[in-house]
Amino acid sequence: MNSFSSFPMREELTRAISDLGFETPTPIQLKVIPQLLSEPIDIIGLAQTGTGKTAAYGLPLLHHVDVSVKHVQCLVLSPTRELCMQIQEEMTRYGAEMRGLRITAVYGGVSISGQIKDVRANPQVIVATPGRLIDLLERKAINLDLLKFVVLDEADEMLNMGFREDIDVILKNTPAREHTWLFSATMSNEVRGIAKRFMKDWKEFAAGAANVTNENIDHQYYVANHHNRFETLRRLLDFTPGIYGIIFTRTKQDAQEVSEKLMKMGYHVSPLHGDMDQKMRSKVMERFKNKQLQCIVATDVAARGIDVNDITHVINYELPDDPEVYTHRSGRTARAGKSGICMSIVSPKQISNIRQIERLVKQKFHKSDIPDGAEIVRKKLFFYLEQIANAEPQADFAKLYRDSIHETFAEVDKDELIRKLIWLQLRDTIDAYQDTEDLNAGYASKERGARTGRSVRLFINLGEKDGLNAQKLLQFITESTDVDPSTIERMTVRDMSSFFNVPSDASEYIIEHLSSKKFKGRKVRLEEAEQRTEGPAGRPGGFGGGGSDRGRPRPGGSRFGGESRGYADRDGGGGGYKGKKKY
Ligand code: AMP
Repeated sequence: MNSFSSFPMREELTRAISDLGFETPTPIQLKVIPQLLSEPIDIIGLAQTGTGKTAAYGLPLLHHVDVSVKHVQCLVLSPTRELCMQIQEEMTRYGAEMRGLRITAVYGGVSISGQIKDVRANPQVIVATPGRLIDLLERKAINLDLLKFVVLDEADEMLNMGFREDIDVILKNTPAREHTWLFSATMSNEVRGIAKRFMKDWKEFAAGAANVTNENIDHQYYVANHHNRFETLRRLLDFTPGIYGIIFTRTKQDAQEVSEKLMKMGYHVSPLHGDMDQKMRSKVMERFKNKQLQCIVATDVAARGIDVNDITHVINYELPDDPEVYTHRSGRTARAGKSGICMSIVSPKQISNIRQIERLVKQKFHKSDIPDGAEIVRKKLFFYLEQIANAEPQADFAKLYRDSIHETFAEVDKDELIRKLIWLQLRDTIDAYQDTEDLNAGYASKERGARTGRSVRLFINLGEKDGLNAQKLLQFITESTDVDPSTIERMTVRDMSSFFNVPSDASEYIIEHLSSKKFKGRKVRLEEAEQRTEGPAGRPGGFGGGGSDRGRPRPGGSRFGGESRGYADRDGGGGGYKGKKKY
């Protein structure tokens, strides 16, 4: 029993799930759904957002609903208004084919009169925040006497928010309650306390790691002053040519404006926010899913409906206020065992927010440098080379134009031809990034790559082409030298090399220990970065990269072969954006 169709579930639900594109149940769904369908005992599910927990309880709940009976049969309690809306939306999608089904969400922060009307219409399922539900109970607008199923979603969060008493009151007012299903990301004594008071003979199910840590996500942040935010975003997009991602903004207006500006510059993006009607939003989602769009620029609320598994990057145009929201955003990437990158653009003042989020996700964030023009051009060059290497022209095309192509270029040297083609492809980018400034806030460009106070910047001859990202490189360095990960700062992983800071008194030790190591059979080279800058000046040969370490032959086959692997790792490779970019 490992597919939805093998679950003994009512057919309307199986069909709706299939229409939604759900193919394989997630681990928590596999554990919980068969149990709750066949024998809906009390359960505790340890699962965080993004694990598919809503369907884990939502599908069995809807399976047991009697649509012909018009009274409240199921209640889902959840901590916030956003979550209530999300659960209601999600469950409505599951129950789309169940005629007569009504699911209502009630939460604080909006007028209660509309909600009173909604609950008086006797929905079978109510999704509620505890406070607002108590309010409705006190006004006698709602009757829970015949309620059979209660789900406590994000129970730990409800307790953190001080809803313990409200939960007690609600559960005590459900005389016909047969089953209680409690979901929580963490299992604290308080959570167990609720179970002990209100549940009987429960079984526990966990969805793998019961916390918000997803080790497949590489968290990066870029420090830019507020007025450079957009330009920074643009550079990040250009530096990630295969991106298939979501850019998060705080407001609908920002989503609209940022998206419009990017569209004008030729990027294949679209906004997604609540001011767009459902039809427009669906259209955007369709284009995004078909990979006609490389990114969508979305608000948190609008992005809830996004159900795409191969997102390579999440970019926080601005950090959310609530660290929890960060985990929801970053969890849009690195799904189903894939890896992903979450980039955040922060102002110098917001670095303390990063520390707070680090504690929540229990992972160290990598401070990365905003790339300069030369780096972007080089990145695009390799991307383009890789595309050429992997292109498979249609047979007809090759036949049709072979003669004229041959005729035109018979006399032209092959290298010259390649140079011309690449020049045409990169010209716009090179023009756009002529004489651009260093956007990294907090230190002047001339300091980059040199000693900064008591820390030393080091160069290492390993980069993305070696299959590394900041996290993997950090792991290699710390495992090879036994230094604490906190010793390594400001790591910047480039195509073929990387830079990072270490305290000056540790630098000699690290250089000595790492220089004797090999990585995938290649000797590691490490030196102080003073001699090398990370900007164009340090690269003889200028754009296109003629520098000594850049054009080196790659181990393991042809140059292109080696590079493709590197990109597949980093940029989502073939899974990424398929469209043709302006450049
Ligand atoms: P949740 O953990 O309930 O917040 O779910 C996260 C997202 O995953 C939602 O957008 C769901 O629609 C989606 N989802 C849940 N289960 C599956 C599945 N088995 N296959 C694909 N997507 C799913």
